Amino acid sequence: MTLPLITTKSEEIFAAAQKLMPGGVNSPVRAFKSVGGQPIVFDRVKGAYVWDVDGNQYIDYVGSWGPAICGHTHPDVINALKDALDKGTSFGAPCVLENVLAEMVIDAVPSIEMVRFVNSGTEACLSVLRLMRAFTGRDKLIKFEGCYHGHGDMFLVKAGSGVATLGLPDSPGVPKSVTSSTLTAPYNDLEAVKQLFAENPGEIAGVILEPIVGNAGFIPPDAGFLEGLRVLTKENGALLVFDEVMTGFRIAYGGVQEKFGVTPDLTTLGKVIGGGLPVGAYGGRRDIMSMVAPAGPMYQAGTLSGNPLAMTAGIKTLELLQKPGTYEYLDKITKKLSEGLLKIAKETGHAACGGQISGMFGLFFTQGPVHNYEDAKKSDLAKFSRFHRGMLERGIYLAPSQFEAGFTSLAHTDEDIEKTLAAAREVMSSL
Ligand code: PMP
Repeated sequence: MTLPLITTKSEEIFAAAQKLMPGGVNSPVRAFKSVGGQPIVFDRVKGAYVWDVDGNQYIDYVGSWGPAICGHTHPDVINALKDALDKGTSFGAPCVLENVLAEMVIDAVPSIEMVRFVNSGTEACLSVLRLMRAFTGRDKLIKFEGCYHGHGDMFLVKAGSGVATLGLPDSPGVPKSVTSSTLTAPYNDLEAVKQLFAENPGEIAGVILEPIVGNAGFIPPDAGFLEGLRVLTKENGALLVFDEVMTGFRIAYGGVQEKFGVTPDLTTLGKVIGGGLPVGAYGGRRDIMSMVAPAGPMYQAGTLSGNPLAMTAGIKTLELLQKPGTYEYLDKITKKLSEGLLKIAKETGHAACGGQISGMFGLFFTQGPVHNYEDAKKSDLAKFSRFHRGMLERGIYLAPSQFEAGFTSLAHTDEDIEKTLAAAREVMSSL
């Protein structure tokens, strides 16, 4: 990419969009608010790359926020979708594609014996909370500061993602009566969870968490944290729920639960299992899932749920991920990127920390270590903003927030990583 970056058309389209949609977008972080407020407007995507409406090409580390793990518009996915299109865009009736994807998910994810497909991660998390409450007969929930579980009322307490990016207080419009049963603890703090259980005996339905955080930046669990939650929830007759909307089929084929060997009672999924179409899912122990209507009394439904196009894209994506070497490759290139960024930061005199697991990574502009959201908030946000802009100008598309993880894909090459590191060296030298 040649400097300066020309984004005239992006600017025109985004200016018009701001009159049409709140903030010019349909999901807040896309507005680039915390990094200067001028997003690029996409024209098309392919492999590891995106092109904006001005014709600029970027190496993409957002991947549509996670789904594009095989690279954008993989030919196998696109061809399968073209065939599926001819059969219809929506059935609103059972179809065999649902069985195929359900079986793949059940075979892959250790905790999942039965699954229900929905249309987004938000819907999956809303539904799983209703199920946790229905199954236990308890109302209270423990979540962690900086974790994001979609925009359901009862999760908008100390939430991550856009809420963190925009520095918003807990959202107006959410009744206190709804969030009064949401208890929060710092991530990686077992003692705090223990205390909440002690203070609310017999009242807590369960604990939900991102088993590796991506929505407060990339924060892995400390050794023993997931295991400790498993023990604590069991001791207290509560359910453990892993929100693997981001990590499912990304950290390992079977998600964080496979990678770290801790099996929750219930799991939410999204992103990758839809191969770029709108999908979410929740699943888990058969006895719990049997409560969901029409098998049981807990109501949850969806006009477009199990949509044939979404199922098709999901099936093809998971088939591609099953190929030998997938996760080794993701880990190899992402490690090269993450270690490279940390090395460059050190050599250019910036306090930074971060890491990666498989195709998910993060870099905080703070000395660290970062164990939780409070640690993440110590990052130099102004510096991140300048870094983000500098990378964009050099053809590297990073998530426009310090509080979002980055994603690689099977389409990213060694050369892409090297170009990215060369750009990072230039930018960090001038920050
Ligand atoms: N849970 C997690 C862990 C997520 O990362 C997200 C989205 N980033 C959601 C839930 C919500 O998913 P969606 O945006 O599809 O509603």
